[in-house]
Amino acid sequence: MDEGLVIVYTGNGKGKTTAALGMALRAIGYDHKICMIQFIKGSWHYGEMTSSKRLEPEFELTAVGKGFVGILDDITPKDVHQKIAREAIEIARQKILSDNYDIVILDEINYAVNLGLVDVSDVLDLVKIRSKKLSLVLTGNHVKQQLVDVADLVTEMREIKHPFQKGIRAKRGIDF
Ligand code: ATP
Ligand code: MG
Repeated sequence: MDEGLVIVYTGNGKGKTTAALGMALRAIGYDHKICMIQFIKGSWHYGEMTSSKRLEPEFELTAVGKGFVGILDDITPKDVHQKIAREAIEIARQKILSDNYDIVILDEINYAVNLGLVDVSDVLDLVKIRSKKLSLVLTGNHVKQQLVDVADLVTEMREIKHPFQKGIRAKRGIDF
């Protein structure tokens, strides 16, 4: 009953990060403690970076990273991205070992793995060290099979339609 789960939200459809946020909102209803670490989102603003403050102290959000790697105007060298991603893994390790949380969300960690910023073995290690009552949520498309193998719950968001296909750009409050 008190056992936590390893949860993965992956796939090319929209809703991975917002699913994790929705779960956090639900868990706060039971005074559960949640820590969300956002990988590679540091230089952008997302609504949850502000609204999460209203949910403190139950909800803690830490954004680490420097925007999207290798996309458009990214001028940060890869080794800098790598160093920051490793720091984020270290923060995650401390949070997981602290025993302070019911849920730890590692948002976009699957992208960090796919971009070669962190090794899948580092993520597997985080899964291994967690106490059995902690739930660990991993988001991002193209999840590695090794992580699917150790997960209890894996949901693939599949795009059927997205407004981006019609040229509609990301919307405040919906996409960021
Ligand atoms: P969200 O944060 O809205 O739940 P996500 O976590 O599933 O989305 P990411 O892969 O993290 O999606 O992408 C981040 C950004 O890209 C968000 O602004 C999101 O709305 C947008 N996005 C997600 N899926 C698609 C898609 N299929 N086509 C275009 N843009 C998308
Ligand atoms: Mg996301």
